[in-house]
Amino acid sequence: MQKYRLSAFNVTVQTDRGSELLYNSNTGAVLEVAAPLKNILENGIDLLSYSAQERLLEGGFLVDAEDNELEMVRFRYERAKHSPILVLTLCPTLSCNLRCGYCYEGEPTVQPVMSEEVIRRIVDLAAKMGRSGVTITWYGGEPLLAKDLLVSIQKRISDVAPVMHCSMVTNGTLLDARTYEMLVKCGLKRFQITVDGMPHIHNTRRATITGRGTFDAVINNLRQIQADHSTISIRVNLDRSNLDGYLNLMRFFAGDARLARYVRGMYPARVTNWPSVPCRWSALCYSEEEFGTEYLRLADEVYAAVGESIVQVPVPRNTYCSASAENSLVIGPLGEIYKCWTSVGNPSAIVGYVGEDMVPNKAELDFWRSWTPFSNERCCSCNILPVCLGGCPAMVKSKMVAIGHQCVREKHIIGEVLLRAQRRLMNERNVQCQEGLESRRQ
Ligand code: SF4
Ligand code: SF4
Repeated sequence: MQKYRLSAFNVTVQTDRGSELLYNSNTGAVLEVAAPLKNILENGIDLLSYSAQERLLEGGFLVDAEDNELEMVRFRYERAKHSPILVLTLCPTLSCNLRCGYCYEGEPTVQPVMSEEVIRRIVDLAAKMGRSGVTITWYGGEPLLAKDLLVSIQKRISDVAPVMHCSMVTNGTLLDARTYEMLVKCGLKRFQITVDGMPHIHNTRRATITGRGTFDAVINNLRQIQADHSTISIRVNLDRSNLDGYLNLMRFFAGDARLARYVRGMYPARVTNWPSVPCRWSALCYSEEEFGTEYLRLADEVYAAVGESIVQVPVPRNTYCSASAENSLVIGPLGEIYKCWTSVGNPSAIVGYVGEDMVPNKAELDFWRSWTPFSNERCCSCNILPVCLGGCPAMVKSKMVAIGHQCVREKHIIGEVLLRAQRRLMNERNVQCQEGLESRRQ
């Protein structure tokens, strides 16, 4: 009987040099082999050198014949779902100074900020449930409309529980250099800002209540802030109307001495056509599969133009998002609790109120509690399950797709992603080699 077998999470793709590129979605390892892996196993791996055997085993491409890989992935998933870490997404207000046409929170009216009573309950919750650690994401509305309040909440939570990580999703219009410094001192480590294209694109999509464009305000802030891609990521929301502007935006950032440091943190994101949101852009949205194809085209253009690779080999994760995790709560300004970020402001998605036992919508809560990709045959037999883990549950909940079909874009393009990653590596090696030759000649 064979001691080893091929992992169920292997992905293989032929290179144009006749070799085979192996990727294992359970370890994230990539390896190039001269002969197909299947043949290697059939011939017996004892014929391979010790180091070749080690690489195949360490990369998870070959696994012990007795191993139950699916159970191991399920174990990791369940452990993350029931993690004692308290994951808080806090919306100090749902007010927003912008009116983005694709916003899933709809048209915000003037909204209250968190009251002292709600804050006290959140701090009590952190003290009780956050002993193993708390992560905080500031969200809204626009969280910086309640800047002083959020700083004070952050400090009060830090006084009663170990805050492990703190980040913010902001439109960037109010994140000037002083505010940024103050927030970093307060413990914030990551910021996500959206820029949808050059001014003629960004300003039509992300304007203020009075219709004024926000490109200059956001860009000026980014130029002033003493940060780089490790603390600030730039999300570019794309649909059919602005996808072709992505390259120009990249060129603009790469060509500006004070913006180039963010290029590595720029990433294209798909605008999702949520059925519950009356969005005037809905006809322009890509499906995940369509976006995958466009993403590869964009990646090639960006790499050729600015030498930056936006294609990443996917890494295994423990959950797709925190919404289905037991101790993950999205808390609105009235103390209302949601599970998913896209539910914020939707009264029918409220699953509780902070500091109270009442469950206003038990069916909603049951959906998130019972969500698992492991009840679905298609997911259980999927070779990229460890990097997708069933995808976005909200897509199934809102009946956009059937369960098992909310696949991440890599499902459609993983082979092409691997080939691009390999080409990039070979180019980099060539450049290093060239540089080595140049320096020897000098
Ligand atoms: S369930 Fe989907 S939409 Fe909701 S927070 Fe998770 S990834 Fe986002
Ligand atoms: S949703 Fe699709 S890609 Fe994700 S695990 Fe299930 S079958 Fe695989």
